[in-house]
Amino acid sequence: MNLNDLKIIVTGAGSGLGRCFAENLVKAGASVMASDVNKEALDALKTELGEHGKIETFVADVSNEAQVIDMVKATAEAFGGVNGLVNNAGITRDGLMVSKSKSTGEVRKMSLENWQKVIDVDLTGVFLCAREVAAYMIENDVKPGVIVSISSVSRHGNFGQSNYSAAKAGLVADTALWSKELSRYGIRTGAVAPGFSRTPILEAMPEKVLDKVVSQVPLRRLGEPTEIWQAVKFILECDYFTGRCVDVDGGLTL
Ligand code: NAP
Repeated sequence: MNLNDLKIIVTGAGSGLGRCFAENLVKAGASVMASDVNKEALDALKTELGEHGKIETFVADVSNEAQVIDMVKATAEAFGGVNGLVNNAGITRDGLMVSKSKSTGEVRKMSLENWQKVIDVDLTGVFLCAREVAAYMIENDVKPGVIVSISSVSRHGNFGQSNYSAAKAGLVADTALWSKELSRYGIRTGAVAPGFSRTPILEAMPEKVLDKVVSQVPLRRLGEPTEIWQAVKFILECDYFTGRCVDVDGGLTL
């Protein structure tokens, strides 16, 4: 699929990887609906990219069904259709499932709230956006279409990330099964699993922990957002790709 034929939604476009994807898509000639919970970030993005091509913005929480439905409707109205989605919005709420304090003996647990919040945004949000974009394409006989979802190297099971690892593994499984369900309608799917990449999401990680992680990456550095974009671009463009996950993690094994 040519990038300049895309009428595409990018979620979590206000920051980090999503911002990079939106920027590259606009510059490649795609019509981009940049969506995020952060209105100020979206306004800044539109100001910066407006002169380079077609960009509209929509404030939506991907875990909110009504807002996702409105986001897809607004995109179709703005661009005369929707044929692409980058499911990028994601959050972390790290913590061990259960741990015992060495000093007090207290047993601590990951709260249900922190489990649920990450599942809501990183898994239910991916489902809702994919469902609504696919439903639009099927109802309006739009083809070809493509849905890319951002997973993580943590999908293999990362220490302290029961919630995040489950969500990121879940979306890779759904990417595979959606390829089976949706290919009859001309819709391809794909996932990209970045390793630790230089974006604001890493600010929540203590520097010591980050240094240790980088020392375990065979390429001995963080990934750059443009390097993750290269994989997203490949999936969007390659018409013989569907259902799989591309790892872009510097070779890291967790
Ligand atoms: P980021 O810089 O924190 O950007 C995420 C964006 O999503 C932020 O603008 C955030 O807004 C927004 N957002 C949060 N909750 C949302 C919701 N419910 N609905 C819509 N938007 C929401 O993160 P990033 O590093 O670019 O990560 C992008 C994706 O890549 C995520 O799915 C992440 O899990 C994945 N990933 C990142 C890395 C990495 O090392 N950076 C590695 C593997 C996978 P606020 O800032 O206002 O919350």
